[in-house]
Amino acid sequence: MIVAIDGPAASGKGTLARRLADALNLAYLDTGSLYRAVGLTAIRAGGDPSVENDAVKAAQNLDLSAFSLTDLRSEEAGIAASQVAFLPAVRAVLLEFQRRFASHPPDGKDGAVMDGRDIGTVVCPDAPAKIFVTADLDVRVGRRVKELRDKGETVIEARIRADMEARDARDKDRSVSPLIPAKDAWILDTSSLDADAAFAQAKAFVIAKMPAK
Ligand code: C5P
Repeated sequence: MIVAIDGPAASGKGTLARRLADALNLAYLDTGSLYRAVGLTAIRAGGDPSVENDAVKAAQNLDLSAFSLTDLRSEEAGIAASQVAFLPAVRAVLLEFQRRFASHPPDGKDGAVMDGRDIGTVVCPDAPAKIFVTADLDVRVGRRVKELRDKGETVIEARIRADMEARDARDKDRSVSPLIPAKDAWILDTSSLDADAAFAQAKAFVIAKMPAK
């Protein structure tokens, strides 16, 4: 069973995907963390994440275990991720990794929940359950500001908004794997849903798509 979950930053898809995986005995892959780790690897090697040679080298030498969750979730990593994600050669390297994970989920799981931007359209186009999670920009900015403040960071809301808009635009407008819902995706707008309500709706949707045992 493969569940494809796509959507913009701070739409709530990460939390939702993790909870679905736990509830349904599926493995979970946060594909954004792959792009984040590639971006940081390029920077740490003294390179520029928007330069193809530097970014491809980083993708080929990727070692996820070299990064803490805090490093991966930083704004620096998010911006570097959307720069490397722009490059088709980087996407090609990561595509193989993602497909292998989906077809051979670890730890004897019954399948995988894949969370990203192009899972339903490119990585797993045959996934039986596809969800495109979205929310209004204001709501997403508010969630990201709260998340960072809860971690004790000082944040300027206008900067978070500008970064998120720039990232949305880069993700939507790129020619390779732009952020768009797959034709057969179910659109889940979480603007006025809390995490529990979004989870309940998504779980019912996925269960209805599961093969009978
Ligand atoms: O989801 P997250 O915010 O961690 O993703 C970081 C960036 O990685 C996104 O802005 C996007 O540019 C890129 N990405 C992507 N394709 C994916 C996952 C993430 O292009 N499947």
